[in-house]
Amino acid sequence: MELAMKSFWPVVDRSWKSMRAVCDDASCHNTQLMRSIPGGRTGIQCGDRWYCSVDCFARGSRAELTSLSNAHFNENPRIPRMSMGLTLLAKGYLNVESLRFAQIESERHRETLETTLTRLCLVSEKQLAAARAAQWGYPVLAQDRIGQTVESDIPQYLLQQSAAVPLDYSVKAKRILLGFVFRVDHSLLESIEKVTGCKVVPCFITATELAEQTKRVATFPSHTETVIEDLGLPERMARTAGRFAVEVAADHAVFSRCRSHVWARVSGKRGKVDIIFRPERFATSEVLANSSVQHEIVCSF
Ligand SMILES: [Zn+2]
Repeated sequence: MELAMKSFWPVVDRSWKSMRAVCDDASCHNTQLMRSIPGGRTGIQCGDRWYCSVDCFARGSRAELTSLSNAHFNENPRIPRMSMGLTLLAKGYLNVESLRFAQIESERHRETLETTLTRLCLVSEKQLAAARAAQWGYPVLAQDRIGQTVESDIPQYLLQQSAAVPLDYSVKAKRILLGFVFRVDHSLLESIEKVTGCKVVPCFITATELAEQTKRVATFPSHTETVIEDLGLPERMARTAGRFAVEVAADHAVFSRCRSHVWARVSGKRGKVDIIFRPERFATSEVLANSSVQHEIVCSF
């Protein structure tokens, strides 16, 4: 009999650990030790914290949302070691005379050298992409990777802000190939890695390739994104996240910061939703300087 009881203990022990999962919301009033029975441990897992209910999740998330909202966005304006002009010269895409002419024109029109070079058709899009890749130390995409349909759950809104597009997304291998046109946005890379759990590999593409590939991005089934126009107070953000958590019957949530935005993902058996909280001042101050270049005339070589 004693032997029989001992053989039963591990099962009891495992169940007990599940039963006595403690809610990470300090104000939680749920004292039901048996709350996870039947059906195993319920509630919402958020990083290494676990909340027994949506109310606790909304309350307990305020601290992280406060910290993410207050984090000062200070992207290191890394300047490549070699300027675009010198890179194009080194690659043989431009001669000294053309570069000098383009520099004078760029000053005269108060535009970037890249804009002038493109406007005057002195370099091709492909050459610019290759030069940017060399400047930043990342590869340029091989032509055959463009034009394939890619299923993705990365918010289109965030991709557009960084002039980026997924070129390959393997859930199984946990790897995403992400193409950038102007520069690699590390804030976007880090937030995607945190939210999706996938390794993100950046590369450079042309503006035309970005437009073409963006049309071929399909959304994962049951995935939606919503942009909230105002960051608001963390309490309000937490309530919004809680509302969506109810909608999707959430069992997981993750919060991240992408540039000046707070990105919350809640997922459950009824779907997955990305909530992007956009700071009010964003509209005028933070759209990538890149966007001005997006209106360049595209030359065909
Ligand atoms: Zn609780």
